[in-house]
Amino acid sequence: MNGPIYLDNNATTAVAPEVLETMLPYLKELYGNASSMHTFGGQLGPAIRKARDKVAAIIGADPSEIIFTSCGTESDNTAIMSALEINPQKKHVITTRVEHPAIYNFCKHLSRKGFRITFLPVDDAGRLSIDALYRALDDDTAIVSIMYANNETGVIFPIQEIGAALKERGILFHTDAVQAVGKVPLNVHTLPVDMLSLSGHKLHAPKGIGALYVRKGTRFYPYIIGGHQENSRRAGTENVASIMGLAKACELAMASLETEITCLSKLRDRLEKALLANCPDSRVNGDRERRLPNTTNISFEFVEGEAILLRLNEYGICASSGSACTSGSLEPSHVLHAMGVPFTALHGSIRFSLSRYNTDSEIDKVIEVLPGIIKELRSLSPYGRVKTCKE
Ligand code: PLP
Repeated sequence: MNGPIYLDNNATTAVAPEVLETMLPYLKELYGNASSMHTFGGQLGPAIRKARDKVAAIIGADPSEIIFTSCGTESDNTAIMSALEINPQKKHVITTRVEHPAIYNFCKHLSRKGFRITFLPVDDAGRLSIDALYRALDDDTAIVSIMYANNETGVIFPIQEIGAALKERGILFHTDAVQAVGKVPLNVHTLPVDMLSLSGHKLHAPKGIGALYVRKGTRFYPYIIGGHQENSRRAGTENVASIMGLAKACELAMASLETEITCLSKLRDRLEKALLANCPDSRVNGDRERRLPNTTNISFEFVEGEAILLRLNEYGICASSGSACTSGSLEPSHVLHAMGVPFTALHGSIRFSLSRYNTDSEIDKVIEVLPGIIKELRSLSPYGRVKTCKE
């Protein structure tokens, strides 16, 4: 049986064969606990050290600045909680209206607990207003957390510029770079952030492994409390196999970054251009200049996104409407809503997110079938407007 045409790589990615191969010995023979006194467990220490070097390398960090976590969500929650713990007198957090739920819903939770949260607006291209950020800052601000790249639109935020301004004011700055690491070049030597989150399953490592970068000298308070693992910064027995997998995935991503940027953006642009040309009343959501090379978010007006996904699914094509974490609910995407995408386009938005495993013929297939699907669905549209697609 042929596999799916998988264009949902911002939701999760396939584990790379090289990653799986690297992990297997740690699941089969080398199953010890890295904290054990005996050699069988203790021998894992040097392997974890090497893995930490590789994960640090993908963002230009020092290995001592990397804390392994269970996922991007944990890294995000940890960064915010650490800032609030070390600054107990400060009760203000600044973030954006378009963050992933790992930050967005966590901040809403903090707001219910009595913290003051500023959710910064974005414009109709999903771009942040830096002036709005400056206006929101005050003496009570404990941390600013702004994503590097948006998971739904791929829009990249000006983290360099924001970080420089916050550094001048001595305010902690975290970036959720879960969608950026492995997709665009990123180096904390020059990027003025104090903390940065990444997640394995977005770059061909398995689910359930992530990391938080904490710049040397940044005061830090752990979120998961227990044993002394990760230099007492994150308790819990090390997930050795997944740590090894993440390291291998980082190594692979670094080796092919430039080629992938070129190939993926070419494939993505071809898909986008063909769909826009062959489906009237379609539009790209988000800034088309500053965005991830693998992502496009297209609205097909007067159609339900869920209906499009179901029809694509019949052809074995996997895409997504809104973020994976909100699928299952028919609430329109909070990201597109914050961008002011009109109602008729909001509900018909589809995100295509590519990876190194996508091929030209897969893109051809989507270009071949999707205009017909849109035409057919529009003929049944509850909006009462019959739209046609050129085929
Ligand atoms: N942040 C962003 C921008 C994401 O896209 C995701 C996952 O979709 C996360 C955080 C959460 O990462 P994880 O699934 O590893 O918890």
